[in-house]
Amino acid sequence: MSFDIQIIGGGLAGSEAAWQLAEAGFRVRLSEMRGGGDKTPAHETDRLAEMVCSNSFRSDDAEHNAVGLLHQEMRALDSLIMHAGDAHRVPAGSALAVDREAFAAEVTRTIEQHPNINVVRERVDTLPAQPAIIATGPLTGSSLAEAIAAETGEGALAFFDAIAPIVHRDSIDMDKAWMAARWDKGGKDYINCPLDKAQYQDFVAALIDGEKMPFHDWEKDTPYFEGCMPIEVMAERGVDTLRYGPMKGVGLDDPRTGRWPYACVQLRQDNALGTLWNMVGFQTKLKHGEQVRIFRTIPGLENAEFARLGGIHRNSFINSPRLLDGQLRLKSKPNIRFAGQITGCEGYVESAAVGILAARFVAAELRGATLPPPPPETALGALLAHITGGADAETFQPMNVNFGLMPPLAGRLKRADRKKAYTDRARAALAEWLAETKVPEPA
Ligand SMILES: Cc1cc2nc3c(=O)[nH]c(=O)nc-3n(C[C@H](O)[C@H](O)[C@H](O)COP(=O)(O)OP(=O)(O)OC[C@H]3O[C@@H](n4cnc5c(N)ncnc54)[C@H](O)[C@@H]3O)c2cc1C
Repeated sequence: MSFDIQIIGGGLAGSEAAWQLAEAGFRVRLSEMRGGGDKTPAHETDRLAEMVCSNSFRSDDAEHNAVGLLHQEMRALDSLIMHAGDAHRVPAGSALAVDREAFAAEVTRTIEQHPNINVVRERVDTLPAQPAIIATGPLTGSSLAEAIAAETGEGALAFFDAIAPIVHRDSIDMDKAWMAARWDKGGKDYINCPLDKAQYQDFVAALIDGEKMPFHDWEKDTPYFEGCMPIEVMAERGVDTLRYGPMKGVGLDDPRTGRWPYACVQLRQDNALGTLWNMVGFQTKLKHGEQVRIFRTIPGLENAEFARLGGIHRNSFINSPRLLDGQLRLKSKPNIRFAGQITGCEGYVESAAVGILAARFVAAELRGATLPPPPPETALGALLAHITGGADAETFQPMNVNFGLMPPLAGRLKRADRKKAYTDRARAALAEWLAETKVPEPA
């Protein structure tokens, strides 16, 4: 069958993109290497949209949670992933958890039976010359990964993430922290959280004792690991290692004491909006609950709200803020779009959401039009804006959807009312965008 667009990778993003384009009337070749003699280290079946780990799409609360809001927006865009998730829901309180086997079986059946989709069990090793969406995920086949790296240049494709936690700016106690750069060089660009000797020693001990996530067998022994060491590993190397590394206090005059602190945690702005701040050098394999407990002992971060917690995993992703335009096109080869986790979004839901956007951008282009991106006040638009430009390209690491990606709310609101204000604003913005971008029915 000839086709209008090739989609490479039949995971969460590729399946969603194939469905969206096929429903819009375009012929899709969906190339998936599993089932054609290839595997990834994490997938266990040949089904499309296999969930490789947890069976949860996280919170389904569209009023107070950013991922719940994203679910709602995806449903409004006729998402296959959300439809199959809703159909195979299992009890999980306010979260949307699914029967993973029934879910993937339904996505596979729906895609394979669609008259506009040809599923081809093949591995793709080179960048296509025709219109294509690359949705090969965190475990992209190595030859294709090499082709992407060759096209995008040194360091633009990462094979591992090294995620440092990100904190919402408005949850940092600036009565304890202060803004400054080391040796006063440049602007006062960092938030500095000072620790005295006792606080530092307790912190180092907590890092060493804290529970860690194990590496998978296929993640061990990576060259990456030495180059970007988790803080708990540095702590184990000696009590002063962190104090001479990412927790250096030298050159930072604490305005409250007039002296350099014994040790200091620095946070650097992480998005153009200035709402999210990255704990510099704090990549970690500590379990998430442990990170919250231990990092909240840092002066200034006692009430920190984390937009993202740290982690280190095998994860292929490109430097999207640098490489992609606002339509998810590779700037150097605009016939190619990227979707899913390889764009640097994180999670099943976010990956499928970026699949929807890539597909809708392609559909508009095939019709000779341009689809304006969803507004940044929506969860879809905020995620897209972050990965295609809002995030700092220098420190870009995978990101879940969260309210910190959206433009700040106007005026002062009580903390309890803020989340609802974000989601109300998003719903209104999405409704307007949907009305403006509706494709007229053929006469
Ligand atoms: C070990 C592990 C655990 C995870 N746990 C979770 C979790 O609990 N919750 C969560 O939300 N997210 C989790 N993730 C992230 C998760 O992988 C993504 O959220 C989601 O699967 C990404 O969707 P995707 O479509 O981008 O990639 P995938 O779902 O991985 O799909 C990519 C597809 O592309 C295929 N492919 C790769 N290379 C080629 C090629 N060259 N040619 C043809 N086909 C190719 C693969 O076989 C795969 O089917 C985990 C990831 C890993 C690796």
